[in-house]
Amino acid sequence: MSYFAGITELPPDPLFGLKARYVADSRTDKVDLGIGAYRDNNGKPWILPAVKLAEAKLVSSPDYNHEYLSISGFEPFLKQASKVILGENSAALAENRVVSQQSLSGTGALHVAGVLLKEFYTGEKTVYLSKPTWANHNQIFTSIGFKVASYPYWDNDTKSLDLKGFLSTIRTAPAGSIFLLHACAHNPTGLDPSQDEWKQVLKELEAKKHLVLFDSAYQGFASGDLDKDAYAIRYAIDQKVISTPIIICQSFAKNVGMYGERVGAIHVIPSTQKDEQLGRALKSQLNRIIRSEISNPPAYGAKIVSTILNDRALRQQWEADLVTMSSRIHKMRLKLKELLTNLHTPGTWDHIVNQTGMFSFTGLSPDMVARLEKVHGIYLVSSGRASVAGLNDGNVEKVANAIDEVVR
Ligand code: PLP
Repeated sequence: MSYFAGITELPPDPLFGLKARYVADSRTDKVDLGIGAYRDNNGKPWILPAVKLAEAKLVSSPDYNHEYLSISGFEPFLKQASKVILGENSAALAENRVVSQQSLSGTGALHVAGVLLKEFYTGEKTVYLSKPTWANHNQIFTSIGFKVASYPYWDNDTKSLDLKGFLSTIRTAPAGSIFLLHACAHNPTGLDPSQDEWKQVLKELEAKKHLVLFDSAYQGFASGDLDKDAYAIRYAIDQKVISTPIIICQSFAKNVGMYGERVGAIHVIPSTQKDEQLGRALKSQLNRIIRSEISNPPAYGAKIVSTILNDRALRQQWEADLVTMSSRIHKMRLKLKELLTNLHTPGTWDHIVNQTGMFSFTGLSPDMVARLEKVHGIYLVSSGRASVAGLNDGNVEKVANAIDEVVR
């Protein structure tokens, strides 16, 4: 008799499986354009100078220890994290309308949001995801028991936003559905709505009283500017465009380069009016969820981020580090496009420079991607998404030549 009825072995996670194949490849000139993690111009992981300085400051402080945090997390971190996303002068913060809870990075924030909504949300329990989206979105919400649907986003013919389709799905979805929006640097397409398009999207969401869930995993990676990259969130909240609750899932994995330390937060803005009782209830329920799942959030990364955010010089260094990362990626986009253009590679490649953030949705087919891996040792996910952060001066020509070969 089986004690695990119906259990079957699953295929490896597409992204981490790709990483394993890359690691096992013995070719010395292999290229990893898979996982969304920043690499420097030598293809190496980069510890941000701001993080190095903060680590030195933190460990030399007489108060440094490894005690448990409170269930809500590290308060000095949470307070600053909410300002990073909502803005120093956020009225919602000044009016005490924001309920914040530290989470296990962005994934943990999305999970906690899902658990909270599953239990208490009175609207339509269907989560609408962009098509395409980060693969994990689907399983995060289906594992909690949500129905998942999609809204058109990427128009493959024009390699631009399918705004018409997006707006039409917002209009036809049952009122009060949950819409997950990528705050900036959309994964996998690297395509963000313009400010005017955001206004249209948010207006339609409000008209149908959908609940807006912002996933902010790349703030600072799109433009290099934290404020610009928070445009949609701040417009929705500051202008009170959205009257339904807003949830923000905030990750510091990418923009502080602390991927493995799991630094993040969930911020819930339940109402455009102050409701202290509701705020306290939400906070206590978020605490209960965290307590039952992880007891209390991890301390080290949150203390580093807090050290950066609470020190003027370190904060400035961090902002400079964001520019270093985003501008190197942009330089690589320009270089790749230039090389493909010079090679007269069939197709148009403008989208590589028009896209933003860490990724480029190259338009390469799964067959072309498979050939890149097999013949050239260049690894990207089968959707054709390339992590541009994996390109550098030493490998971009090889990648351009290989793309040229597989496209022809
Ligand atoms: N959301 C999106 C769109 C992502 O691409 C990622 C990571 O790749 C995350 C959330 C969550 O990342 P983490 O859990 O490492 O913060």
